[in-house]
Amino acid sequence: MDIKADTAALRQLDRAHHLHPFTDLQDYAEHGGRIVNRAEHIYIHDTDGNKMLDGMSGLWCCNLGYSQHSIAEAVYRQLRELPYYNNFFKCSNQPAVELAKALAEVTPAQFKHVFFTNSGSEANDTNIRLVHRYFDLLGKPEKKLFISRKNAYHGSTIAAGSLGGMAPMHKQAIGLTYVHHINQPHWFENGGDLGEAEYGLQVARELEAKIEELGEDKVAAFIAEPVQGAGGVIIPPQTYWPEIQRICDERDILLIADEVICGFGRTGKWFGSETYGIKPQLMTFAKAITNGYMPLGGVMVGDQVADVLLSGGGEFTHGLTYSGHPAACAAGLATLEILRGSDIIETAAEQIAPHFQRRLREFEGHPIVGQVRGQGMFAALELVANKASRERLAPESRGAVFCRDRANSNGLMVRQTGDAMIMAPPLVCSTDEIDILIEKLGIALDETA
Ligand code: PLP
Repeated sequence: MDIKADTAALRQLDRAHHLHPFTDLQDYAEHGGRIVNRAEHIYIHDTDGNKMLDGMSGLWCCNLGYSQHSIAEAVYRQLRELPYYNNFFKCSNQPAVELAKALAEVTPAQFKHVFFTNSGSEANDTNIRLVHRYFDLLGKPEKKLFISRKNAYHGSTIAAGSLGGMAPMHKQAIGLTYVHHINQPHWFENGGDLGEAEYGLQVARELEAKIEELGEDKVAAFIAEPVQGAGGVIIPPQTYWPEIQRICDERDILLIADEVICGFGRTGKWFGSETYGIKPQLMTFAKAITNGYMPLGGVMVGDQVADVLLSGGGEFTHGLTYSGHPAACAAGLATLEILRGSDIIETAAEQIAPHFQRRLREFEGHPIVGQVRGQGMFAALELVANKASRERLAPESRGAVFCRDRANSNGLMVRQTGDAMIMAPPLVCSTDEIDILIEKLGIALDETA
């Protein structure tokens, strides 16, 4: 089929039949969108013939780009050998077993067990049931409350959306009543006159205050991303995580690190928990575990929780038809094989990310850039009306949405959250490709100013 000739027909069918996630459905039905039909290395192509540098690694998942054929081949082989069997009823399959072992090896030392899901959302749902089961088995059934952060994104199911702190999502379905939210550590927006270190301590201590308010005997867990991603790539002040860790340790609160974006090299080490010195009892992963090529997520269960679950007796009443799907696990294994057999994470951390972060800081002098923040291959530019006062852009002015659209039209895929431009390029970018990203971003910023 000549795809290009059929672009108009495809777009028409898409508008007629396809409801898109996180999209203004009326607008899409009227105007349609871009149909992506091919990708290689760090570039995507659409049916109109445009080639775009993917500054977002898809949806923060294709960390190794689009040309990792060994993953595709592993999936194909697995589909021929054993396309499906479930992991219920005392059954298992080889890729799931091998991936569980490999994950135990690459994740921090406290993790030896994994529960597989198909997505990050389901993994965070799983966290809720794991935590409730853990405290029930310990004879503390009143410990049921979760604390999370405003503007956090932990997924789209009703439970994961409740753990998240995105107000518009809460408005579109009533969520769980046992989740409470504290502020995110967004120094630029909320720090006022405080220095970053002092602000980091202050905002971390909101957790302590919330535990006091709700009762230590009722709060079960605190969930957070090491670096909040969809919430705006919020880089925490250095003081933040040590204080959060202290509070959780002293108060018998489980710490859940949601590593769905941070995991597998994004922040410079294998996991964001390692970058920030966090020791969680539970850890959510998804996305880059298969380099985005197959749906797979899960929860790494630390020894403290696993020991109780494994000695508690009675059924853990939770599972998904595709938990530990053999083809998805084969994709995960092939991805880990690439990561473990190469120095991609180290090269990105030591050579590519420093170049990326240094070049981004050239925009600090740009008239509409209030702050440049980032860690590893992860960054945001906060756009402002007034750099000195940090005054926000007026709603009617050209802002981050306009800037994103200009960048996209100019061949660079980046995203916007609030007034921030956000980026998470593949770890396999070269420094020359980072320079192309910077050049295209600069043009979009100039067009927006
Ligand atoms: N947690 C975080 C931190 C995420 O960024 C996301 C998705 O972007 C999720 C959970 C949900 O993952 P999924 O979209 O695979 O359900």
